[in-house]
Amino acid sequence: RAKEAGRGTYAFFEETLNERAQARRRVENDLRIAIEQGQFELHYQPLFDLDKHRIGSFEALMRWNHPTRGQISPTDFIPVAEDTGLIVRIGAWALHEACRQAKSWPEHVRVAVNVSPIQLQRPGLAETILQALASSGLEPQRLEIEITESVFLAGTEATMKLLHSLRAIGVRIALDDFGTGYSSLSYLQSFPFDKLKIDRSFIQNLLVRPGAVAVVRAITDLAGALGMETTAEGVEEDSQLAELRSQGCSSVQGFLFARPMPARKVAELLAQKGEPGRKVA
Ligand code: C2E
Ligand code: MG
Ligand code: MG
Ligand code: MG
Repeated sequence: RAKEAGRGTYAFFEETLNERAQARRRVENDLRIAIEQGQFELHYQPLFDLDKHRIGSFEALMRWNHPTRGQISPTDFIPVAEDTGLIVRIGAWALHEACRQAKSWPEHVRVAVNVSPIQLQRPGLAETILQALASSGLEPQRLEIEITESVFLAGTEATMKLLHSLRAIGVRIALDDFGTGYSSLSYLQSFPFDKLKIDRSFIQNLLVRPGAVAVVRAITDLAGALGMETTAEGVEEDSQLAELRSQGCSSVQGFLFARPMPARKVAELLAQKGEPGRKVA
């Protein structure tokens, strides 16, 4: 009996594994077609500068317009793109596209592009970024790359070297989703990030969970002491904004101000007389 049950379980397990493998292969295959056919699009979400009372930058967020499945979220396809290494080509496209579009924005407005740990591990990222800057004509100071703490898990020395070389040409480096995952404070003293982006989970709980205010204050104080800016991610409520302002957070990003939008909407938003940032001010 036990043997039978075991076999049954095994067969079931095998089938779902097989199905899962097939689903992945389908996504991988679709991703290759998407690259060839240009099915990706960047949406942009503004970051409001609390000191200057205006939009300081936009974060580029990838969207996949699948011909039959509709728009697919990056959380659904970036992991597959990373596992298959396709993120290198997709990420290079994003860097070129973001720089090209940012070139048409006012000079004080920067663009932030997410860069995967896989892109940092593989050779060629520095060259890709230099090419994106050169072909677009965007000043390096107007490009910020967002990396996550996970890049410090492996190959720290090579990663540090790469980050330093990017910084040397003027590209800004932000640490994304700060406070989640592998937090080790040691790399904060060994690398001069331009910005820490406080993860949305802290902001969502800011006025809910006891201690969240203290944690966010510790992060903004630490960043300030190290000469780094802070961005609060996922700001959805006025009460959160008020708390973040009183803490001296540099900038805020979230649905309270704007959702990620297609490029043509960015132009409209920037052309508006009173940017929505005024309401923040
Ligand atoms: P992220 O870099 O932390 O980007 C912020 C995410 O939070 C975005 O989700 C954004 O739409 C969402 N968000 C912003 N404000 C709010 C808010 O007020 N409330 C809520 N609930 N969410 C908010 P999105 O666009 O789905 O992207 C998810 C993640 O996918 C990104 O997280 C990033 O890790 C990754 N990603 C997106 N585009 C790229 C890309 O071009 N390259 C790479 N490597 N990763 C990307
Ligand atoms: Mg990001
Ligand atoms: Mg983030
Ligand atoms: Mg996040």
